Amino acid sequence: SAMREQKIQKTKTVCTFCGVGCSFDVWTKGRHILKIEPSEDAPANGISTCVKGKFGWDFVNSEERLTKPLIRRGDAFYESTWDEALDLIAEKFQTIKREYGPDSLGFISSSKVTNEENYLMQKLARSVFGTNNVDNCSRYCQSPATDGLMRTVGIGGDAGTIQDIAKAGLVMIVGANPAEAHPVLATRVKRAHKLNGQKLMVVDLRKHEMAERADLFIRPNQGTDHVWLSAVTKYIVDQNWHDAKFLSEKVTGFDDYLHSLEPYTLDYAEQVTGISREELIQMATMIHEADGVAVLWAMGVTQHCGGSETSGAISDLLLVTGNFARPGAGAFPLRGHNNVQGACDFGTLPNWLPGYQLVSDESARLKFEKAWGTPLSGVPGMDNQWMLNAILEGKLHGMYLMGEDMAWVDTNANHVHEALSHLDFFVVQDMFLTKTAQFADVILPASPSLEKEGTFTNTERRVQRLYQVMKPLGESRPDWEIICAIANRLGAGWTYEYPGDVMDEAAALAPIFAGVSYERLEGYKSLLWPVAPDGTDTPLLYTDGFGHPDGKAQLVSANWVPPMMPDKNYDLHLNNGRLLEHFHEGNMTDKSEGLRAKVPDTFLEVSPELAKERGLKDGTLVRLESPHGKVKVHVIVTDKVRGKELYLPMNTTSDESAVNLLTGPATDTRTDTPAYKETFVRMEILRTE
Ligand code: SF4
Repeated sequence: SAMREQKIQKTKTVCTFCGVGCSFDVWTKGRHILKIEPSEDAPANGISTCVKGKFGWDFVNSEERLTKPLIRRGDAFYESTWDEALDLIAEKFQTIKREYGPDSLGFISSSKVTNEENYLMQKLARSVFGTNNVDNCSRYCQSPATDGLMRTVGIGGDAGTIQDIAKAGLVMIVGANPAEAHPVLATRVKRAHKLNGQKLMVVDLRKHEMAERADLFIRPNQGTDHVWLSAVTKYIVDQNWHDAKFLSEKVTGFDDYLHSLEPYTLDYAEQVTGISREELIQMATMIHEADGVAVLWAMGVTQHCGGSETSGAISDLLLVTGNFARPGAGAFPLRGHNNVQGACDFGTLPNWLPGYQLVSDESARLKFEKAWGTPLSGVPGMDNQWMLNAILEGKLHGMYLMGEDMAWVDTNANHVHEALSHLDFFVVQDMFLTKTAQFADVILPASPSLEKEGTFTNTERRVQRLYQVMKPLGESRPDWEIICAIANRLGAGWTYEYPGDVMDEAAALAPIFAGVSYERLEGYKSLLWPVAPDGTDTPLLYTDGFGHPDGKAQLVSANWVPPMMPDKNYDLHLNNGRLLEHFHEGNMTDKSEGLRAKVPDTFLEVSPELAKERGLKDGTLVRLESPHGKVKVHVIVTDKVRGKELYLPMNTTSDESAVNLLTGPATDTRTDTPAYKETFVRMEILRTE
């Protein structure tokens, strides 16, 4: 009743904005959020939050929220009932499947939605429609990190906890900007640096806040991380600083690896990376002298043609120096979205069933077939890049996309728009009428995290529960309910009553979740996978051996994939990334008053050198043009960037300034992750202010 809704309530939730996975209480009166109150019991963040977690929630009550299903009629949409929308979806997808086969359908899941919703999305694709064409946005960010870790240490997750990072003697941050993208984690590192004498090394193109604080800040040439990593590792072995005992007991492939390192001399590395010989030796020495090395990396490494190879090289360096299986050491890829880890763990990937069981593994597949009562395809499906190309080749006809603004977050936006407009039938599920939704035939109104139950998995592999803070707005529904409704329209007969039932099913089928249950996750309790049947979880990985069948880690050979380079037509390197105040392209945070007021528009960072050469000042309006598109944006002159490097944040969905109008089609050689960071543009001044 209205009376009850107006009672003041306190409900625990998990932040929806980044992979740190802060949890806190939300005080509400009806739909009104009174305050966000952190708790000492919160396992990842304790009493800390950042501005997004504290002030970023206005979007849930935004006037722009979708509250009814919408169906396309010509160039416009009309509001429909749920029944009409669901009937239409069932009929169209069935027709496409009948006419062109199951693999003519594609399913895009979301790193914003819960584990249970991801599980259901891949189950819908695999068991109801019979295709492995299912993917999530880790393809845009962290797939290369997962690949590098899978090949070396055998598990695609952070080696330890955020608390563990504070115990490291040396933290290396490579191609990541945690002060803005993972603020509470960065706070932990800042504190350990200040109070515990922890050393900090930052390797980045851009002099961001953590770089300013670092004991050693290194600026390599773009796309050359693999080369300095390999040279530093070779130097460490040449000095006999490697951990011979660790290598002989726990690691295979050392001889082949050493052979592959031969070309990576200090001279070669100096020439390719622009890092001086002295600095390379200083890096090796800092690593050698540290008691525990933790490497944190993100999209500055992964969004390159060689993103997977470089991620493998990071893991190699840690293995050679014995920096795994103890607190304060290991590989920490920083997951961006709140649930990018969980989306992958729960199987919205074209080659993996939930819990990293290969679709091509017959015994795994049989287990799922038996549980689901349907035959499953053993052929890996298409990833999201491949799906877009398949649309234009006439091979993919229908797509169901949940919680992903693909039209702006994928590279080469003009190409994406072209592909999406060629779908025979396109269903988009979102809270807002995003750019992507404008290409849809049916738009389904979804509920945000505050309006539903479920679990998220943060960058530490920590599974945490979120509780329903408020009822879904209007006729919007939690994503899991919508997926179930679609499945049941097609006769699936799913009987999940609440997300806990879905978790129970996943726990029974995926050994890494064997002991996960909602009871064990009550309130602020959490579990870090793998979780044994008795509920014992794993804060620190690899203490009982590595993730490969023989229990050993495997060194991967050094194999540098050189980056693309500028040419005379496109002479400037365009870097891009996040901002503290906004989440990603800003669909949620630009609807929060306080955050939008702080950063109302996007901007382009240019170096003082370039400003001088081209006559640019703060506020100058410029056009950037790449072979793929153009944008207009105002300049800020700052020494955060140097020389011919530019930096354009991704916090906008404007047709005029979205960075992905400029990015191109090149991808990582092993995972198809777009090489966002290898973008070259030319600049033209439009107006000086
Ligand atoms: Fe949310 Fe991340 Fe900020 Fe924590 S650090 S409050 S998870 S955005």
